[in-house]
Amino acid sequence: MPGILCPVCTEETGGGWASSDRVRVDIPDDTLLQPVLSGQSLPPAEWKKVRDRIRTELNVPAYMRITPGAAIGLPRAELLQPDVQQIVHPFPGQLIVRDTVVYALEQARLTGFQPVPVIAEWGMKAQRLVAEDPPLLYELCISGHAWRVGFDEERITTCHMCGRKLFPDPHWLEVDQNRWDGSDFFTVDMNPNIVLVTDRVCHILADAGFGNYRCVPIATS
Ligand SMILES: [Zn+2]
Repeated sequence: MPGILCPVCTEETGGGWASSDRVRVDIPDDTLLQPVLSGQSLPPAEWKKVRDRIRTELNVPAYMRITPGAAIGLPRAELLQPDVQQIVHPFPGQLIVRDTVVYALEQARLTGFQPVPVIAEWGMKAQRLVAEDPPLLYELCISGHAWRVGFDEERITTCHMCGRKLFPDPHWLEVDQNRWDGSDFFTVDMNPNIVLVTDRVCHILADAGFGNYRCVPIATS
Protein backbone atom coordinates (compact mmCIF):
# COMPACT_ATOMS: atom_id res chain seq x y z
CA MET A 1 0.00 0.00 0.00
CA PRO A 2 1.46 3.39 -0.92
CA GLY A 3 2.28 5.99 1.70
CA ILE A 4 0.95 9.55 1.88
CA LEU A 5 2.97 12.61 0.89
CA CYS A 6 1.52 14.95 3.46
CA PRO A 7 1.48 18.69 2.75
CA VAL A 8 0.50 19.48 6.36
CA CYS A 9 3.13 17.63 8.46
CA THR A 10 5.48 17.38 5.42
CA GLU A 11 6.17 13.71 6.23
CA GLU A 12 5.94 10.73 3.89
CA THR A 13 3.61 8.78 6.16
CA GLY A 14 3.91 5.00 5.63
CA GLY A 15 6.49 5.59 2.92
CA GLY A 16 10.04 5.41 4.23
CA TRP A 17 9.02 3.13 7.07
CA ALA A 18 6.28 0.57 6.53
CA SER A 19 3.14 0.57 8.61
CA SER A 20 2.61 -2.65 10.55
CA ASP A 21 -1.04 -3.00 9.59
CA ARG A 22 -1.72 -6.21 7.71
CA VAL A 23 -4.71 -6.37 5.38
CA ARG A 24 -5.16 -10.09 4.81
CA VAL A 25 -7.25 -10.44 1.66
CA ASP A 26 -6.61 -12.31 -1.56
CA ILE A 27 -5.36 -10.18 -4.44
CA PRO A 28 -6.62 -11.75 -7.71
CA ASP A 29 -3.89 -12.22 -10.34
CA ASP A 30 -5.88 -10.24 -12.86
CA THR A 31 -6.50 -7.24 -10.60
CA LEU A 32 -6.07 -3.81 -12.12
CA LEU A 33 -5.03 -2.59 -8.67
CA GLN A 34 -1.48 -4.02 -8.92
CA PRO A 35 0.20 -0.79 -10.10
CA VAL A 36 -1.37 1.28 -7.31
CA LEU A 37 -0.72 -1.36 -4.64
CA SER A 38 3.01 -1.27 -5.29
CA GLY A 39 3.09 2.35 -6.40
CA GLN A 40 4.75 5.40 -4.91
CA SER A 41 3.42 7.57 -2.11
CA LEU A 42 0.49 9.81 -3.07
CA PRO A 43 -1.04 13.12 -2.01
CA PRO A 44 -3.81 12.65 0.62
CA ALA A 45 -6.87 12.99 -1.66
CA GLU A 46 -5.51 10.52 -4.23
CA TRP A 47 -4.42 8.15 -1.48
CA LYS A 48 -7.92 8.12 0.02
CA LYS A 49 -9.39 7.24 -3.39
CA VAL A 50 -6.97 4.31 -3.70
CA ARG A 51 -7.83 3.18 -0.16
CA ASP A 52 -11.58 3.24 -0.86
CA ARG A 53 -11.08 1.38 -4.15
CA ILE A 54 -9.03 -1.32 -2.40
CA ARG A 55 -11.65 -1.70 0.34
CA THR A 56 -14.42 -2.19 -2.22
CA GLU A 57 -12.65 -4.19 -4.93
CA LEU A 58 -10.83 -6.56 -2.56
CA ASN A 59 -13.75 -6.80 -0.08
CA VAL A 60 -11.62 -5.74 2.89
CA PRO A 61 -13.54 -6.40 6.15
CA ALA A 62 -14.34 -3.28 8.20
CA TYR A 63 -12.11 -4.31 11.12
CA MET A 64 -8.97 -4.35 8.94
CA ARG A 65 -7.56 -0.83 8.84
CA ILE A 66 -6.06 0.23 5.51
CA THR A 67 -3.29 2.61 6.55
CA PRO A 68 -0.39 4.19 4.62
CA GLY A 69 2.28 1.56 3.97
CA ALA A 70 0.06 -1.36 5.12
CA ALA A 71 0.87 -4.87 3.83
CA ILE A 72 -1.94 -6.06 1.57
CA GLY A 73 -2.40 -9.68 0.51
CA LEU A 74 -2.55 -13.15 2.03
CA PRO A 75 0.19 -14.02 4.53
CA ARG A 76 3.20 -15.93 3.19
CA ALA A 77 5.86 -17.78 5.12
CA GLU A 78 9.20 -19.36 4.33
CA LEU A 79 9.84 -22.06 6.91
CA LEU A 80 13.51 -22.21 7.82
CA GLN A 81 13.37 -25.16 10.23
CA PRO A 82 11.80 -28.59 9.60
CA ASP A 83 10.12 -28.59 13.02
CA VAL A 84 7.62 -25.75 13.02
CA GLN A 85 6.57 -24.46 16.46
CA GLN A 86 2.87 -24.28 17.37
CA ILE A 87 3.04 -20.51 17.75
CA VAL A 88 5.49 -18.38 15.74
CA HIS A 89 6.16 -14.62 15.99
CA PRO A 90 7.80 -13.36 12.78
CA PHE A 91 7.06 -9.71 13.65
CA PRO A 92 5.81 -7.96 16.82
CA GLY A 93 2.07 -8.57 17.06
CA GLN A 94 2.04 -11.10 14.21
CA LEU A 95 0.83 -14.51 15.36
CA ILE A 96 1.33 -17.48 13.04
CA VAL A 97 -0.05 -20.69 14.52
CA ARG A 98 -0.52 -24.36 13.64
CA ASP A 99 -4.02 -25.64 12.89
CA THR A 100 -4.10 -27.38 16.29
CA VAL A 101 -3.95 -23.96 17.98
CA VAL A 102 -6.79 -22.57 15.85
CA TYR A 103 -8.84 -25.65 16.69
CA ALA A 104 -8.26 -25.19 20.43
CA LEU A 105 -9.15 -21.48 20.30
CA GLU A 106 -12.30 -22.12 18.28
CA GLN A 107 -13.37 -25.04 20.49
CA ALA A 108 -13.15 -22.70 23.48
CA ARG A 109 -15.22 -20.09 21.55
CA LEU A 110 -12.62 -17.41 22.10
CA THR A 111 -13.22 -14.14 20.25
CA GLY A 112 -11.36 -11.24 18.65
CA PHE A 113 -9.38 -13.11 16.00
CA GLN A 114 -9.86 -14.42 12.47
CA PRO A 115 -7.60 -17.26 11.30
CA VAL A 116 -6.31 -16.59 7.77
CA PRO A 117 -4.51 -19.47 5.97
CA VAL A 118 -0.80 -18.86 5.39
CA ILE A 119 0.79 -19.70 2.04
CA ALA A 120 3.82 -21.55 3.42
CA GLU A 121 6.82 -23.10 1.75
CA TRP A 122 10.00 -24.70 3.04
CA GLY A 123 13.17 -22.66 2.93
CA MET A 124 16.15 -24.08 0.99
CA LYS A 125 17.77 -25.75 4.00
CA ALA A 126 14.55 -27.19 5.45
CA GLN A 127 13.54 -28.49 2.03
CA ARG A 128 16.55 -30.81 1.99
CA LEU A 129 15.60 -32.30 5.35
CA VAL A 130 11.89 -32.99 4.91
CA ALA A 131 9.83 -34.85 2.33
CA GLU A 132 6.32 -33.84 3.39
CA ASP A 133 4.41 -30.65 2.63
CA PRO A 134 4.65 -27.73 5.07
CA PRO A 135 2.14 -27.94 7.99
CA LEU A 136 -1.13 -26.01 7.89
CA LEU A 137 -0.51 -22.56 9.32
CA TYR A 138 -2.78 -19.61 10.03
CA GLU A 139 -2.18 -15.99 10.83
CA LEU A 140 -4.43 -14.78 13.63
CA CYS A 141 -5.80 -11.44 12.45
CA ILE A 142 -6.80 -9.52 15.55
CA SER A 143 -10.19 -7.81 15.36
CA GLY A 144 -10.71 -6.99 19.05
CA HIS A 145 -9.86 -3.50 20.30
CA ALA A 146 -9.52 -1.43 23.47
CA TRP A 147 -8.07 1.92 24.51
CA ARG A 148 -5.50 2.54 27.18
CA VAL A 149 -6.64 4.66 30.12
CA GLY A 150 -6.61 8.32 29.07
CA PHE A 151 -5.93 7.68 25.37
CA ASP A 152 -8.22 8.13 22.40
CA GLU A 153 -7.88 8.64 18.65
CA GLU A 154 -7.62 12.41 19.03
CA ARG A 155 -4.74 12.11 21.50
CA ILE A 156 -2.65 9.65 19.45
CA THR A 157 -3.15 11.39 16.08
CA THR A 158 -0.34 13.82 15.36
CA CYS A 159 -1.57 14.88 11.90
CA HIS A 160 -5.21 15.01 10.91
CA MET A 161 -4.44 15.23 7.19
CA CYS A 162 -2.50 11.97 6.81
CA GLY A 163 -3.65 10.31 10.05
CA ARG A 164 -0.10 9.84 11.38
CA LYS A 165 -0.34 8.27 14.83
CA LEU A 166 1.88 7.81 17.86
CA PHE A 167 1.97 5.12 20.51
CA PRO A 168 3.66 6.87 23.42
CA ASP A 169 4.89 4.92 26.44
CA PRO A 170 4.61 1.50 24.75
CA HIS A 171 5.35 -0.53 27.87
CA TRP A 172 2.50 1.06 29.80
CA LEU A 173 -0.56 -1.04 28.97
CA GLU A 174 -3.31 -0.12 31.43
CA VAL A 175 -6.53 -1.02 29.62
CA ASP A 176 -9.72 1.02 30.11
CA GLN A 177 -12.27 -1.78 30.56
CA ASN A 178 -15.13 0.59 29.68
CA ARG A 179 -13.58 1.03 26.24
CA TRP A 180 -12.69 -2.62 25.62
CA ASP A 181 -14.98 -4.45 23.18
CA GLY A 182 -14.87 -7.59 25.33
CA SER A 183 -12.82 -9.67 22.83
CA ASP A 184 -10.42 -12.32 24.10
CA PHE A 185 -7.75 -11.16 21.63
CA PHE A 186 -7.36 -7.40 21.16
CA THR A 187 -5.01 -4.57 20.33
CA VAL A 188 -4.90 -1.19 22.09
CA ASP A 189 -4.87 2.33 20.66
CA MET A 190 -4.97 0.98 17.06
CA ASN A 191 -1.43 -0.39 17.42
CA PRO A 192 -1.16 -3.79 15.67
CA ASN A 193 2.25 -4.58 17.19
CA ILE A 194 1.02 -5.54 20.66
CA VAL A 195 -1.61 -8.25 21.15
CA LEU A 196 -3.38 -8.46 24.50
CA VAL A 197 -5.43 -11.48 25.58
CA THR A 198 -7.83 -12.40 28.36
CA ASP A 199 -6.89 -14.92 31.03
CA ARG A 200 -9.20 -17.37 29.25
CA VAL A 201 -6.71 -17.41 26.35
CA CYS A 202 -3.79 -18.02 28.72
CA HIS A 203 -5.61 -20.94 30.31
CA ILE A 204 -6.60 -22.52 27.00
CA LEU A 205 -3.03 -22.28 25.66
CA ALA A 206 -1.56 -23.62 28.90
CA ASP A 207 -4.09 -26.46 29.21
CA ALA A 208 -3.38 -27.54 25.63
CA GLY A 209 0.35 -27.54 26.35
CA PHE A 210 1.31 -25.22 23.50
CA GLY A 211 4.79 -23.76 23.68
CA ASN A 212 6.72 -20.75 22.39
CA TYR A 213 4.62 -17.97 23.91
CA ARG A 214 4.52 -16.08 27.18
CA CYS A 215 1.45 -14.47 28.78
CA VAL A 216 2.46 -11.48 30.92
CA PRO A 217 -0.12 -9.92 33.30
CA ILE A 218 -1.04 -6.25 32.70
CA ALA A 219 -3.10 -3.72 34.66
CA THR A 220 -6.74 -2.84 33.94
CA SER A 221 -9.03 -0.21 35.37
ZN1 LIG B 1 0.53 14.60 7.86
